[in-house]
Amino acid sequence: MKGVCYICNKTFSKAGITKHLKTHLKDDGYIRLYHIRIAGFYDPQYWLHIEIPADAKLKDLDKFLRDIWLECCDHLSAFVINDVYYVSIPEGEKDMNFKLGSVLNIGMEFYHLYDFGSQTKLRLKIMGERNGTLKEKVRILARNNPPKITCSCGEKAKWICTQCFYDSEENCYLCERCAKEHKCEEEMLLPVVNSPRMGVCGYAGGIYD
Ligand SMILES: [Zn+2]
Ligand SMILES: [Zn+2]
Ligand SMILES: [Zn+2]
Ligand SMILES: [Zn+2]
Repeated sequence: MKGVCYICNKTFSKAGITKHLKTHLKDDGYIRLYHIRIAGFYDPQYWLHIEIPADAKLKDLDKFLRDIWLECCDHLSAFVINDVYYVSIPEGEKDMNFKLGSVLNIGMEFYHLYDFGSQTKLRLKIMGERNGTLKEKVRILARNNPPKITCSCGEKAKWICTQCFYDSEENCYLCERCAKEHKCEEEMLLPVVNSPRMGVCGYAGGIYD
């Protein structure tokens, strides 16, 4: 799945974007910044590249992931780093008050889990670091283009029927017109969104969409 570099607005493949971003990310300040690649564990066509200070905490990264891709009804979440769990509301596990720089290094791969019931799992990797400046708490460097999802009639899909999705029926994606005539209850419909949590629980899109 192709995506857009948010710095120069050009389109790149998932493989090409990492190399391309390196041409932008030079040392130009004094804040230690991590470049992180994030992708759906089971849906890698959803991906992001971000920059975040190494001094930020796991809970700051958790907040960002919830805002852009995950939050539906305040479920528990966790990072899994070297098999250690860092949980949003811990019960004996570690919490998320650790600085990224104290638990992560360049090249490390780790995971994020949202909702231990209908779980969405993400794969993250520290691609690099630099000394730079950052205006926002998290800077989006690049993001995948929304997948082109069509209704069986050929129109652009606006809704996903979660009932048909769970039953693995072929036509779970519906355009506005076909949604009106669909056999399942209207409450089963969720919007088609650019996120690996599309169609899960009550997920209706992020604050960046
Ligand atoms: Zn660029
Ligand atoms: Zn939910
Ligand atoms: Zn249905
Ligand atoms: Zn249709």
